[in-house]
Amino acid sequence: MIRAGLIRQSSSGVYSLLPFALRSIERIEKIIDQEMRNIGAQKLSLPILLSANMWKRTGRWDTTGSELFKLKDRKTSDFCLAPTHEEEITQLVANDVFSYRQLPLRLYQIGRKFRDEMRPRAGLLRGREFIMKDLYTFDTTEEAALETYEEVNEAYNKIFSRIGLPFVIAEADTGNIGGTKSHEYHILSPVGEDLILSCMRCGYTSNEERARGITDNDGCPVCYKDSITSPLKSNRAIEVGHTFLLGTKYSDPLKATFAPENPLYKGELLSIQMGCYGIGVSRMIAAIIESSHDSKGIIWPPSVAPYRVCIIPGGDEPEITEKTRSLYDFLTSECDGLNDEVLIDDRMNLSFGYRMKDAELLGYPWLMIIGKKFLESGKIEIHNRHNNQRNHLEFNEIKNLFI
Ligand code: ATP
Ligand code: MG
Ligand code: MG
Ligand code: MG
Repeated sequence: MIRAGLIRQSSSGVYSLLPFALRSIERIEKIIDQEMRNIGAQKLSLPILLSANMWKRTGRWDTTGSELFKLKDRKTSDFCLAPTHEEEITQLVANDVFSYRQLPLRLYQIGRKFRDEMRPRAGLLRGREFIMKDLYTFDTTEEAALETYEEVNEAYNKIFSRIGLPFVIAEADTGNIGGTKSHEYHILSPVGEDLILSCMRCGYTSNEERARGITDNDGCPVCYKDSITSPLKSNRAIEVGHTFLLGTKYSDPLKATFAPENPLYKGELLSIQMGCYGIGVSRMIAAIIESSHDSKGIIWPPSVAPYRVCIIPGGDEPEITEKTRSLYDFLTSECDGLNDEVLIDDRMNLSFGYRMKDAELLGYPWLMIIGKKFLESGKIEIHNRHNNQRNHLEFNEIKNLFI
């Protein structure tokens, strides 16, 4: 990512996102925004600088340990930089929601999180400052919260399918976030820090901690219940998403309550049933590159590529310049979904070979070359970064590539 000019390190685990990385991140965010909107979630923005009060009330001020970036203001009050936002959003909702009539509620944001990781590593894979999408859901009953949980997991499937890389869903433990039900979304990769275990017989998949938590023999915990021994296959993976059915873990201590539709007695208040759902947006970029590259560089899935097409003019003859321009105009106006997705590498002070290598490193899904051969044949040389195929096509044949 450094060689491709996507990121630069500022300090350990802290990075600047350069324009190409930011474009990819924005494309992931757009997919997320659409799928969140489809399940009726509204976007908001919570502060990153958080007072310690709520964290002390839930107990996480102490239990989070040294991952929490703690600081004091000039009056020596305790603050932290948000590593996650359950406390903040629960307090917000507690102050505004009083009645079942205001529920259900689904709120999310895409923003920075801070965790003083023991071992920041591999650039954006494990940063100390990173970008997360976090959704929080609020329901009146456990059943409604479970339905919400399933609906959000369905939305997650759509998000990861649209990004276009194979992913694995694993049952997970709830850890320091808490709750009763939890799943992780993983991209398989040998550099992943997590171990995912899958049963070859029944398909049950969980992370390592979860499997160990259910049985102390390492066979499949589901088949084990039927007295069948079935071994688990293990794969290294990168955790890119995590969902939790929280119950009232945060609404109890922070008093996020509501008056129910049919109270058992006058003045009865119930705790809101919550869920929380994260996606590691900046980690996703690194995970995509880890699972989709070759010796030449990145192979972006078209859904999240910074640009989908790069045109490389082979020389600076006026005719080449003119045809490059008209190819650009053609692609951005006539081809489906390309209006903002085409780049011309006109750094004519660099050699053609250098620009070709750079384009392969940067991983544009499509490379189009207008050189001397084009002047002879009228055909554009097109490289597909995904399958390495090369084609020679005329302008109007190109359109079919983008249907
Ligand atoms: P990990 O097990 O890798 O430490 P986590 O379980 O602590 O992650 P969650 O609290 O579940 O992380 O946060 C939701 C998502 O945020 C994770 O699934 C992951 O994609 C992302 N994430 C967590 N920590 C980091 C980090 N240090 N850098 C980048 N992304 C992260
Ligand atoms: Mg962690
Ligand atoms: Mg984890
Ligand atoms: Mg997690």
